[in-house]
Amino acid sequence: MNDSIQTLLTSFQEELKAIQSTKELEDLKVKYLGKKGPVQGLMKHLKDLSPEERPVFGQAVNDLKVEISNTLEDLAGKLVAQEEFKAIQSEKVDITEPGRRRFLGSKHILTASMDEILDVLVSMGFSVQYGPDVDNDWYNFESLNFPPDHPARDMQDTFYLKKDRLLRTHTSNMQVRIMESEKLPIRVAFPGRAFRNETITARSHVFFQQVEGLYIDKGVTFKDLMSTLDEFFLKLFHKKVETRFRPSYFPFVEPGLEVDIRCIICNGSGCGVCKNTGWLEVLGAGMVHPNVLLAGGIDPEVYSGYAWGMGLERLVMIKHGIKDIRLFTENNLKFLAQF
Ligand SMILES: [Zn+2]
Repeated sequence: MNDSIQTLLTSFQEELKAIQSTKELEDLKVKYLGKKGPVQGLMKHLKDLSPEERPVFGQAVNDLKVEISNTLEDLAGKLVAQEEFKAIQSEKVDITEPGRRRFLGSKHILTASMDEILDVLVSMGFSVQYGPDVDNDWYNFESLNFPPDHPARDMQDTFYLKKDRLLRTHTSNMQVRIMESEKLPIRVAFPGRAFRNETITARSHVFFQQVEGLYIDKGVTFKDLMSTLDEFFLKLFHKKVETRFRPSYFPFVEPGLEVDIRCIICNGSGCGVCKNTGWLEVLGAGMVHPNVLLAGGIDPEVYSGYAWGMGLERLVMIKHGIKDIRLFTENNLKFLAQF
């Protein structure tokens, strides 16, 4: 009988050597000490023994149980410690590793830039309005003093839809609308998309964004326009920007101007962005034409105003040195994620 106890102990010790984890240890414990296990099985032999032998054998089996149990517990302690150590090792933070960037997505550079421009204009007292992309000839051309034969009205330049409907060629289609709906004095900025039937190239696209400003009150002069633009550029570029005004022609303003700023890249010394001129053309502006005020129901003898407008894409291309306007609409994340 003692032989079978010894054999059992030996086989247990052999199996113990292969144990690597607390899970395997638990399985081994169930295997040997469980109700259907070999240790319990030894007790069946009690009935074959003489009354004198029984207590001795019973004690021996009990000692075996204690021996196995203690051995298992010792090893369990070691394995738990080992496993905790491994877990800590694997969770260890290496603070010298470069950070992993979590990609959350962000505003498109054009949206972010437009928001920035509108923030500046709102801080200068302009309210913001949005107008329709699809409009009629009256608001887009006629009311803005475009003569009937003006080339902009040509099919070559404008997307006409059916029945006196067109895709607006500029955000200026809001000017007379605002005059009709707002009380004087008017000080409104209107951002939005505009559409032109042009060939898509690195410098031009069939749609683009503009932002315009309109101010109408009694006694508004050219000086107000110039000082407003100076302040606008100062707030937008966070530095004093030198401006240059050149006479130009737009049907809805008189006089009309093109506004240049000192190149913000080279500060005027000449670079690729300003084509070595030291100046960047960024804006069209002028005093609202009396015919446009009349179209909006405002007496040009009493009121005057200024209007200016600029292309968003062009400004962003200058600011960030972007060479191709098509990049804005290609949804290339590598390009967009740079900003
Ligand atoms: Zn330059």
